[in-house]
Amino acid sequence: MPQTDFDVVVVGGGPAGSTAATLIAKEGHRVALLEKERFPRYQIGESLLPATVHGVCRLLDVTEDMEAAGFQVKRGGSFRWGTSPEPWNFLFALSPKLSGPTSYAYQVDRMTFDHILLKNAARHGVDVREESAALEAVRTGGRVTGVRYTDPDGHHRELSAFYVLDASGNTGRLHRAVGGIRHYSDFFKNLAVFGYFEGGKRLPGPDRGNILCAAFDEGWIWYIPLSDTLTSVGAVLNRDQAGRIQADREKTLLESIERCDIVRDYLSEATRVTEGTYGEIRVRKDYSYANSAFWAPGIALIGDAACFIDPVFSTGVHLATYGGLLAARSVNSVLAGDLPEERVFTEFESRYRREYAVFYEFLSAFYDMQVHEDSYFWKARKVTRAEGLGDMEAFTTLVGGAFSGEKALVDAETMTSKFATSSAELADAVARTGPARTETGERMSALFGPPVVGEVMEEMNRIQRRGVTGPETLEAPLLDGGLVPSPDGLRWVDPAVPAAES
Ligand code: FAD
Repeated sequence: MPQTDFDVVVVGGGPAGSTAATLIAKEGHRVALLEKERFPRYQIGESLLPATVHGVCRLLDVTEDMEAAGFQVKRGGSFRWGTSPEPWNFLFALSPKLSGPTSYAYQVDRMTFDHILLKNAARHGVDVREESAALEAVRTGGRVTGVRYTDPDGHHRELSAFYVLDASGNTGRLHRAVGGIRHYSDFFKNLAVFGYFEGGKRLPGPDRGNILCAAFDEGWIWYIPLSDTLTSVGAVLNRDQAGRIQADREKTLLESIERCDIVRDYLSEATRVTEGTYGEIRVRKDYSYANSAFWAPGIALIGDAACFIDPVFSTGVHLATYGGLLAARSVNSVLAGDLPEERVFTEFESRYRREYAVFYEFLSAFYDMQVHEDSYFWKARKVTRAEGLGDMEAFTTLVGGAFSGEKALVDAETMTSKFATSSAELADAVARTGPARTETGERMSALFGPPVVGEVMEEMNRIQRRGVTGPETLEAPLLDGGLVPSPDGLRWVDPAVPAAES
């Protein structure tokens, strides 16, 4: 093999880049990460899924850091959506793959969350270089073999590597080195205008940390409780509202809130933050796209550099960290000499696209406001082709990020020591709230009714029992003739090759 400065150069220190860099460094490889900003830096995308928090974050060894950060616990979502006049809820605990200790996620301040992941990458031996902006890919023959970048003093530098991972988000340009086209969605042509409020109301009891999404005539609003007092509020509007937003973003956001009853009520005693990082009203557009190719020899795209759909079910960080995990496995397998490049990156791209496609299909149907919420649950079961699951179970499994069923994302067994605390917490929350009456309608907490809780507790017990039955065999391939993750989740294994030969 030729001499290189690093085995891998990762471009971008968001969730995708930090995840991939850490999981490759964990296998002992030499990794550099170039990040054009100095952290902490602002980013939107604050609502996480359980598969990220309990799957990828556990693999990254940041579980304790996440707990110590004191992020708002998110047990599910609340929606004023579809034909029902009243809001409806879901709980991650209703998914058989997520119930028990892994049935919650966090609402995070991205400055803190992304910094935790970046510092963790450095702790695992990644050479993290902030204020270092990648300029272009270096090629040797038909292969990407490195990156040119500017260092903090503005000097042009170059690093060679066996692999470059582009995790530079939606603004990066490196993705062009893969040679594909970025296809913008014909369906999701929305814009988002967002800001922050102090003193907004909270949903009652266990729903307190839920993301609330509320539709109104011109679009929908997210309401994400980031702490007891701080709330992230954003309006997602059709592109035909671009002129209004351009003319006055603050006015557009406040008018949208005014037209959305439930959010208007929740913010009736709140004030908009007008200073500091959270004081700005920001706008994002053209964010729904997928690249036609996710890899080429020597380079792969992960996170927003590869694809993003829509904010409604908080899938961005999930897709970014899942993509980071899949790419890390692929790189680790080639560098270890386990499997050929073509084979592992085909697995990477196929799994990544499958996850993207299922969310895309489901979210497209979710934007149909003319149906009852039961139709959304039914649709989730249809797109996931989930066997043996009810509609609600399929829905919560999908929106919890557990549709792939990958052990690395839903491995509750490793968390059994926390079982007692989590189930007691949930039981306590239920006892305090009861089957629910709220200012916004009875249905807001109806899913916490005792029969459902009984089923959830039963599932928690099953998971706990499974936890003491010892190591499991390899997972089944997700794709025909495909690869499977190694037991530690960090490499690929060919299930057709007996263990002694591989
Ligand atoms: P990023 O987080 O964007 O990180 C990329 C990094 O690369 C940045 O730090 C950047 O500085 C760096 N970089 C860029 N160019 C270069 C360069 N040339 N050289 C070096 N470094 C570079 N997702 C959720 O999960 N939950 C949500 O609630 C949610 N809400 C959203 C709301 C809106 C309106 C939008 C548009 C998106 C939302 N998302 C949400 C999606 C989420 O923001 C992204 O999917 C996620 O941040 C992607 O992570 P990433 O690591 O790929 O990219």
